[in-house]
Order: sequence, then C-alpha cells, then structure tokens
Amino acid sequence: MLHTDILIVGSGCSGLYTALNLPRDRKILIITKSDAESCDSFLAQGGICVLKDISDYDSYFEDTLRAGHYENDRKSVDIMIRSSQKVIQNLIDCGVQFHHDAKGQLDFTREGAHSHKRILFHEDETGKEITKHLLAAVKELPNVTLMEHTTMMDLVEKDNTCYGAVIRRENGKLDAVQADFTILATGGVGGLYEHSTNYRHLTGDGVAMAIRHGLRLKDINYVQIHPTTFYTTNPEDRSFLISESVRGEGAKLYDKNMQRFTNELLPRDLLTIAIKKQMKKDGTKHVWEDLRTIPYEERHAHFPNIIEHCLKMGYDPDKEPIPVVPAQHYYMGGVWVNHESRTSMNQLYAVGETACNGVHGRNRLASNSLLESMVFAGRAAEDLMASYDKVKHDQGVFRSIDYTQYQDEKALQELYADLVKKEIDKADKAMKIKEEAEEEGPDSLPSALHSASEKQQNPAARV
Ligand SMILES: Cc1cc2nc3c(=O)[nH]c(=O)nc-3n(C[C@H](O)[C@H](O)[C@H](O)COP(=O)(O)OP(=O)(O)OC[C@H]3O[C@@H](n4cnc5c(N)ncnc54)[C@H](O)[C@@H]3O)c2cc1C
Repeated sequence: MLHTDILIVGSGCSGLYTALNLPRDRKILIITKSDAESCDSFLAQGGICVLKDISDYDSYFEDTLRAGHYENDRKSVDIMIRSSQKVIQNLIDCGVQFHHDAKGQLDFTREGAHSHKRILFHEDETGKEITKHLLAAVKELPNVTLMEHTTMMDLVEKDNTCYGAVIRRENGKLDAVQADFTILATGGVGGLYEHSTNYRHLTGDGVAMAIRHGLRLKDINYVQIHPTTFYTTNPEDRSFLISESVRGEGAKLYDKNMQRFTNELLPRDLLTIAIKKQMKKDGTKHVWEDLRTIPYEERHAHFPNIIEHCLKMGYDPDKEPIPVVPAQHYYMGGVWVNHESRTSMNQLYAVGETACNGVHGRNRLASNSLLESMVFAGRAAEDLMASYDKVKHDQGVFRSIDYTQYQDEKALQELYADLVKKEIDKADKAMKIKEEAEEEGPDSLPSALHSASEKQQNPAARV
C-alpha cells in the first residue's frame, strides 16, 4: 500500500494547479490514467478569460449568466471573475506566454456570447501553453510524485469519509493509496460519447465513483455540445475542434448553398440548435465554415494549428470553406462541490470539469473553463490545509478491501460508464417532463414528478 498526505487524481490543469498551491511540506501523489500530457487541458485552443479591469465586471458577469441561462451559482461566478487576475498572474509567473499586441500589451480575443474582448490566448494552443508550464513546475517539486498510467478504480470510503483510493498500477497490479485528503480532478465525460472533442479515456470516472458512493451531484445532465468540430468521414480518435475564437475573429457559417443562416456568435447551445436545424433542412451531415473572412495575417498568426489540421484533412481554409458539425465537448454538471470545492464526503474534494459548483449554469461561456478549474483548485488547496486538524484515519478500512471486484477492468469501466449514462438520461427525462409540464401550467405536474424534479434541484436528497 502507498501512503501520501494528499492524493490528486488527474494531471490536467485543475490537478496540477491544486498541487502547486499546496505547501511544500506535504507529500503529494498525482496519478493519471494515461501519460501526463494526454488530458483535455492540453487541447484547449481558444483561451482563458480574465477580468481586464473592473469596468468590465458587470458585462463579464452578465455574459456568463446569459450563456448559462441564468441558472448559474452567482457566488461562484463572482469568485471566478474576481480571482481571475490572480490566476493569470500566477500563470505568467510560471512562464506562460500570452499573446501581446504591437505595443507589447497583453492582447485579448473574443468568442461567442462575449460582449467584449477579454480572452487571453497563445496562438490556438492556449491549453498546451498553460498546462505544459504547470506540469514543468510540478515536476520540479520535491514533494510531488507523479505516477502515469495509473488508474483510480474506486474510493476507499467508510461512513462518508474518504481515506484514499484503490488504484491499478502501470503493471496492471491492484493496490491502494492511503491519503489524508483525496482530490478528484478526473476531467469530463466525452469518452462516453461517440463524437466528442475530448480524449477517449475521459469517461467520467470521478462522477461514476461519486454515484456509486452516494455523493451529492449537481446538474448531472448538463452536457455541452460544441457547434463547430471538423467533419470527416474518416474514423477518428476524437473530433477536432474549430475553436469558437475563429468565429469570434470573423469566420462565417454557410448552408449547403453557401449562404449564411445564423448569427455565428450565439451562445454554444443556441448555435448548435441552429446548425442541427439547418442540417436537417438541407439533408446534410455538416454545414460550412469560412475562415477567409478573417484577415490573412490574423488567420495565420492566430490559428496555425487549425489551418494545419484542415490542410491535413484535404481542405485549404485560404481557398475554401471547411465542413463542420456539432459534437460533445464539455460537462457543466458533475460532483456537487461547495465554493471551496468540498464534496459531500469528508476528506474528498473535486475540481475542474469533474466538479460542479454551478459556475456555468446550464451552458458554459467560452473560455471560462480553464479559469474556473484553476480558481477553484486554488480554493480547494487552501480549504484543505485549513481543515487538516480534523483529518480522521482508519487502517481497518484498507484491510477489508475486496480487490476481486476490481480485477475485471473492462467490466468495471462498463459499469461506471453505465452508471453515469443512466444518471444523465434519468435527469434529462425528468427535466423534459418538468419543462413540458411547466409550459402547460403548475397543475399538470404529477406529484411523482414533483419529487423527481425536486431531487434534481436538491440533489442532497440522494445522499
Ligand atoms: C478541444 C478542446 C478545446 C477546449 N478549449 C478550451 C478553451 O479554449 N478555453 C477553456 O477555458 N476551456 C477549453 N476547453 C475545456 C478545458 O480544456 C477543460 O474543461 C479543462 O482543461 C479541464 O481540466 P481538468 O483538469 O478538469 O481535466 P483534464 O485536463 O481533462 O484532466 C483530466 C485528468 O484526469 C485523469 N483521469 C481521468 N480518470 C482517471 C482515473 N480513473 N484515474 C486516474 N486518472 C484519471 C486523466 O488522465 C487526466 O489526467 C477545451 C476542451 C477541449 C476538449
């Protein structure tokens, strides 16, 4: 058995940022299912939002709420916006280089549903630039051990307190990690979908384990579909994203007759609906996106990797529009956490895409995810240290682990995938029935559905 003070499950920006914000005298173990670079944080293209100056506060707040259909947790939004400058400064101190304008000032771009330019970027590889620096900084820390190709199989839990995790090591052997605190930073659920921009191994494991252990959940069915991913008939590992900032900088969407059919800067969910409607009307499998409406210099300086991918796939964005189609992209819901990233289980935190503090509401505003992940990862680190004196230990719980239930990895993965998909479906159905009933008036909502919908709104009822 391994012993550590703090176990972090996941090496994306949320897991790494948590580690960097913990004191150096704590022993930290980070495990990751794949190699350290294979996580969605490395894929982020568009950028990271920041409060440029206080005069943009109201507008940024309102844009986040409007995109989220006003279902956002307002305190979470306030915390995220007010903490943004500190996070950006920390990243710059870590060596992250954001794009600067000709005068040497930080440059900002814009994406759909943003009223103003407030997104920092590094070409179209902002996530890679940020996460590679975080990873390098973590690797420098003598108190941190990083174990790649090591999968968390389950929480080790008794009486709603988490004592660590069951893991499968790179050599396939099952083991346990005893930790004072465990942090779920396991990313999103894209691997459960046929078409997704996410890495295939991101299958909502943290959420599945939370369901298995009866943790409180939130907005479990709030899954974001990105309106524009590169359409191809070739079987692909994951869908390639055509970043929203491409539309933010002026790219246009066309139907089968090469005519514009929508406002390209609609929030993601509304634009996805518009594209799907147009595809149905046209009887096509994709629509077209024209990058030639972005000035040449800007197009090549800002989006070199997107252009390279299109060329590789046989389309030259300098000469023709490219085919795009919506695909699963992001998970707004997940394991319920408070504003300090605590889950409903003692000694267990959740950060990043796995966690849901309500900041995104029903639909995430572009480029709020990297920021939110790191803001609330920092808060988890702070809160955890403040509650160290209350840590409980239980050796007995490790002696009673039944490892046989984890031997068949494939069967366990299927079980976990099934748990998450069923929970999403159940919540989706309850929400649809509730919305239909509300349209017809309050008297039409049967009492059984009243309780189903209350459970969704107050998931504490599950604990
Ligand atoms: C193509 C693309 C473009 C994006 N562009 C932007 C953007 O421009 N701006 C923005 O703000 N956001 C963007 N996002 C979203 C953003 O990248 C993610 O939401 C964010 O990086 C999530 O970080 P994370 O730390 O929660 O998860 P991830 O970075 O996905 O990391 C998850 C980690 O958990 C590990 N893991 C999972 N399960 C287990 C397990 N059972 N055991 C051990 N380890 C496990 C994985 O191996 C991985 O290391 C984009 C996402 C994609 C896919």
